[in-house]
Amino acid sequence: MAPQGLHENLEEPAVLDGDMAKSYNIVEIFHSVQGEGYRSGIPHVFIRFGVCNLRCEWCDTNFDVYEQKSVAEIMEVVGQFPCKNIIFTGGEPMLNDLWPLARVLKKDGYHLSVESNGTVAIPAGLLDWICISPKDQMYPNVSIKQRAGDELKCVYVGQPLSMYDGLKEGFSHHFLQPCYDEEASVEENGRSFALTEAVVKENPQWRLSLQTHKWMGIL
Ligand code: SF4
Repeated sequence: MAPQGLHENLEEPAVLDGDMAKSYNIVEIFHSVQGEGYRSGIPHVFIRFGVCNLRCEWCDTNFDVYEQKSVAEIMEVVGQFPCKNIIFTGGEPMLNDLWPLARVLKKDGYHLSVESNGTVAIPAGLLDWICISPKDQMYPNVSIKQRAGDELKCVYVGQPLSMYDGLKEGFSHHFLQPCYDEEASVEENGRSFALTEAVVKENPQWRLSLQTHKWMGIL
């Protein structure tokens, strides 16, 4: 169960004047299957936002190239896909006021998830599924503001798991994910998988998450 209050007030949001005209920095919108974490295997429409407040060395997203799209334009693209599950991703989606877009999507019956680095607090009731992927193994001085959610997903690069002791209790599911480097050899990636698998076996409160979409060669 998600922590109490996290998904309150989601029913029948009223769309406000001006919501359709609100614009966002959008890198891409595409239909694919979630390849990692708890909702792995479920088709989603991914809305990728431009701009991030971090610069992780393993980041595989070009979040600096984007264009402005209004909610009306976003809805036009999203509506082309036979899919009612949305993932807001990035970049860092929570750098935006997502309420106007969320209100319009919810009115049309969409399930809204976010993948966020946790550095921005998420308003209660905004989203149906919150996945936080903290990057404090790289940025120990960046504070995690969103300390509750459905899913905590950490890229494992050998950091002590004790760094998540104060954070884990706010989340329903806990994942460690090996760092998959598309430029690296099969052997190097294999070592990363083996390292994470070994840590999960020793720490069974964590589950292994794999980026299966990368193996399949899909977005
Ligand atoms: S927080 Fe995510 S989007 Fe931002 S730089 Fe790191 S991996 Fe990339």
